[in-house]
Amino acid sequence: METLKRTKVKELLNSTAYGTDVIVKGWVRTFRNDKFIAINDGSTINNIQAVVDSTIDETLLKRLTTGAAISITGELIESIGKGQKVEIQVKTLEILGDSDAEKFPLQPKKHSLEFLREIAHLRFRTNTFNAVFKVRHALAFAIHQFFNERGFVYLHTPIITASDAEGAGEMFRVTSLDFDNPPRTEDGKVDFKQDFFGKSTNLTVSGQLEGELAAMALGEIYTFGPTFRAENSNTTRHLAEFWMIEPEVAFNDLNDNMNLAEDLLKYVITYALETCEDELEFLKNRLLEEEKQKPQDERAEMDLLAKLHFVSSNDFIRLSYTEAIEILKNSTPNKKKKFKYLIENWGADLQSEHERYLVEKHFKKPVILTDYPKDIKAFYMRQNEDGKTVRAMDILFPGIGEIVGGSQREERLDFLEKRMQEMNIPTEDLYWYLDTRKFGTAPHAGFGLGFERLVLFVTGMTNIRDVIPFPRAPKTAEF
Ligand code: ATP
Ligand code: MN
Repeated sequence: METLKRTKVKELLNSTAYGTDVIVKGWVRTFRNDKFIAINDGSTINNIQAVVDSTIDETLLKRLTTGAAISITGELIESIGKGQKVEIQVKTLEILGDSDAEKFPLQPKKHSLEFLREIAHLRFRTNTFNAVFKVRHALAFAIHQFFNERGFVYLHTPIITASDAEGAGEMFRVTSLDFDNPPRTEDGKVDFKQDFFGKSTNLTVSGQLEGELAAMALGEIYTFGPTFRAENSNTTRHLAEFWMIEPEVAFNDLNDNMNLAEDLLKYVITYALETCEDELEFLKNRLLEEEKQKPQDERAEMDLLAKLHFVSSNDFIRLSYTEAIEILKNSTPNKKKKFKYLIENWGADLQSEHERYLVEKHFKKPVILTDYPKDIKAFYMRQNEDGKTVRAMDILFPGIGEIVGGSQREERLDFLEKRMQEMNIPTEDLYWYLDTRKFGTAPHAGFGLGFERLVLFVTGMTNIRDVIPFPRAPKTAEF
C-alpha cells in the first residue's frame, strides 16, 4: 500500500474525492450500533462518520469507547445518511490510546458549564469549547492583523513591574524571599532591598505607562499580554489573570482614540463572522437552546449572529458622562429604586447595572461615554478646561458593560505633577514616566481592551471563566 498522510476532518468533510483512500486520526465522540464511529480531530466542530463492517476484529471494536484515540484508513464514500455528504468505509483500524469508558467524565450528552469548569483539562473535547477557543484564536489573530495593517509596533511590556503607583487594581507580589524567614530592616519591616530585584515587585496590572514611553518615539504601538489583578471580585466579568490589548498613539486626541477603538472592535468582529462561520452558528444555536428555558419576555431580541452583524455595522453612540447621568437620574429603575446603587448626584461612579441600562435598555447600541469626573478616573488622564472632568472614554457593550477603558493622556508636565500630588502618587518613583513630559512631550491617547470580555461578547458565553483555557480567579488555579 502506498504511504498515505493523515487528512484532517475539516478537509475531508468538504471533499468530493469519492473512492480515494484516506487516513484519519482523532478521538471517538460516539460509537453507535457497533457500526458507526463519529470521529473528531479538533480541526472542526463537526465529526466525520466512519462505518465499520464485519472485516474489523471484534475485540478491537469492544475497545472502541467514547474518548479513545484512533487511527483509521478507509475509502471516502458519498454518504446516504442525512446531515453529512461524506463518510469513510473503514479498511483498517488502530487504537492509539484506550479510554476508560466507565471513568471518562464526558459522556455523549449535554454537560453544564459549571461541571465542565471543574474538568477544565478535558472540556476542550466538547463542541462548545472547541468553538469558543477557535473564536478566541481568530480574534487574537485579527487584532494583530488590524494593528499590523496600520503600521503599529507590537510592544512587549514587562510582566514583572516595580511600579505600584498605577492604582488600576490590587497587585500580586513577586518575590524570591524566604517567607518563613524574610530579611528585616531595622524597624522590623521586610527588607525588599535583599529581594531578587533589590526592590518590591509585582505582576503588572497594565502595560500602559511603558507603552506611552515607546509611543513617544515609535509613534503607534500596542501591547497584547497577560495582566493581573488581585481584586477579590467574584463576578462573571473579572479574572485575576486576563489578557489586555493596549494601543497608544502619539498625536491622537480623544476623538481619534474613540475612532480607533470603534474601528478595532468592528474589524475583529467582522473577521470572526467571516472566518468562524461554523463555530458561531453552533454557538448561536447553543444560546437559542438556553433561551428556551427563559420566560418569553426575558429572551434576547437578536440571536448571536444578528447581534454581531448589528454591532459591526452601526455607529456607536457617543455621549458625555454628564449627559449619561441625566438619563440615568430620570430612568425608571432609578425612580422606582430598582438600581442597587441609586444615581443621585453628578460625580457618582457608574456601576455595571447603570452601564448595562444605557446600552441594553436606553440606546440599544454600544455606547462610548466620555469626559468623566476627574475624581473617579486615573491621574494620567488629560484635564478639561472645566477643571472638573477628564478626557476619558469607556466603551460599554450589551451583556458586558465596560469592554474598553481609555483616555487622552495629560501631556502637560505641570498639570500632571499637580494631579499626582493631589492623588498621593509618588512622583520620584515615576520619574521615568514624567521624563516623557520633559523631553518632547506631545498630545497622545490610548486605551485598554479586555480580551476575554471581547471573547465573551463574540461567543455569547456568559461567564468569563468559560472563554479562557485555564481561568485564574479567587480560590481557582487548579489546572
Ligand atoms: P471594571 O470596572 O469592569 O473592573 P476597570 O475599570 O478596572 O474595569 P480598566 O482598568 O480600565 O478596567 O481596564 C481596561 C479593560 O480591561 C476593561 O475595560 C476591561 O475590558 C478589562 N478588565 C479590567 N479588569 C478586568 C478583570 N479583572 N478581568 C477581565 N478583564 C478586565
Ligand atoms: Mn476593575
